[in-house]
Amino acid sequence: MPDFTMEVYFHCQSAEDWETEIPSSKGDKTYRVWVGRAHWPGAAQYEFQCECKSFQYRHTCKHIEVAKKVGYCGWQQFVHGEEIVRDKQHIARCPRCNEIAIAMRYAV
Ligand SMILES: [Zn+2]
Ligand SMILES: [Zn+2]
Repeated sequence: MPDFTMEVYFHCQSAEDWETEIPSSKGDKTYRVWVGRAHWPGAAQYEFQCECKSFQYRHTCKHIEVAKKVGYCGWQQFVHGEEIVRDKQHIARCPRCNEIAIAMRYAV
């Protein structure tokens, strides 16, 4: 028997799959900002990503900072607490934005 237990925690679908468009500071174009699987060293499993040049070099940029403030939920039970809500079909929903909540197993 392993000496740890598995606990199930939920997170909002937006924590692993989300996208928006952010206007450039000049307002002459828009950049796609999204949350998805990250592939660079030191990244978490899911990270904010942007298609701009600055992001290519630094893995962060001002568009991402803006995107985080415009209706991004990103709720994770493990981090933020709170319980999921169940809708009429008994589907797990995010308590903050009502998106689908996804179950993940963690060893504790
Ligand atoms: Zn950017
Ligand atoms: Zn949410």
